[in-house]
Amino acid sequence: MSDAASGTIAFLGLGHMGGPMAVNLVKAGHQVVAYDPVPAALETAREHGIATVDSASEAVAGASVVLTMLPSGKHVLDAYRGVDGAPGLLAVAAPNTLFLDCSTINVDEAREAASLAVEAGHRSVDAPVSGGVVGAEAGTLTFMVGALPEDFETVKPILEHMGRRIVHCGEHGAGQAAKVCNNMILGVSMIAVSEAFVLGEKLGLTHQALFDVASNASGQCWALTTNCPVPGPVPTSPANRDYQPGFAGALMAKDLRLAVNALESTGVDGQMGHLASKIYDAFAAEGGAGRDFSGIITDIRDKSAK
Ligand code: NAD
Repeated sequence: MSDAASGTIAFLGLGHMGGPMAVNLVKAGHQVVAYDPVPAALETAREHGIATVDSASEAVAGASVVLTMLPSGKHVLDAYRGVDGAPGLLAVAAPNTLFLDCSTINVDEAREAASLAVEAGHRSVDAPVSGGVVGAEAGTLTFMVGALPEDFETVKPILEHMGRRIVHCGEHGAGQAAKVCNNMILGVSMIAVSEAFVLGEKLGLTHQALFDVASNASGQCWALTTNCPVPGPVPTSPANRDYQPGFAGALMAKDLRLAVNALESTGVDGQMGHLASKIYDAFAAEGGAGRDFSGIITDIRDKSAK
């Protein structure tokens, strides 16, 4: 392990994802000092043998890596810069600290965070994840990494204790870029698969017949063959447990908003991405926020009732 990878990791954000990720780092023998403003999150961390402190600054002082797993880009940038007169983490950290952000945030925000870190004399890596809470607990996440080559080599052994696939996507922001592109495909394809099943119902096709054809034909995709939005054909899909997530509608809506921001900042004519974002915002606002995103099929079916 490099010096940075074997030193103390300040872990900020012990929520649904960060909590179990921090546990896996400690289990692998890393020295972790954690902080979250929610006392219950700190308590759970301590029960798992993680050292906790009362502020982010305290966690960062003495750390060689600062890992953030926060709700949004604003949280990350505020933490880096400091708010309300409080010192930012970039100012508090020792020179050449490696800032490793695993949150899902805008590509532009990730690049801004990296510039700020580098200007302050630090190193920066964006490494958003897929795999959800189940993957965070099992240590089987996929990390999409934007980093300079030498920084990638530093973080790889750390990420391997929390994930199974670690993909170097390019330089600063490339991890977030890969994540936003992948999730735009996912959102659009889930809507397409759901519309096809509802159309099939109207045309008198059984779910199984459509599945048997499309899963072996050109309609094949993850939304169909792994996260099938109707119960039956794929017994493990959330549709078989009344759309308990899985991947919650609120998170898909969030990721599609990031996709729309990226489409707009790059000028891409991404009509399907825009539409998928609108559809999932409505789904999340109308009761789908806590349901699996494949529950979108019930909205489509309801709106198709004559
Ligand atoms: P969460 O809301 O459960 O956890 C975020 C945690 O950050 C909270 O405990 C909050 O108190 C803490 N926090 C906020 N500001 C902080 C600060 N300044 N310092 C320290 N802690 C702070 O969110 P989550 O579900 O764990 O998701 C975290 C990130 O991972 C998000 O960006 C999300 O989009 C992404 N993500 C989530 C999933 C999922 O299935 N939940 C999957 C992939 C990616």
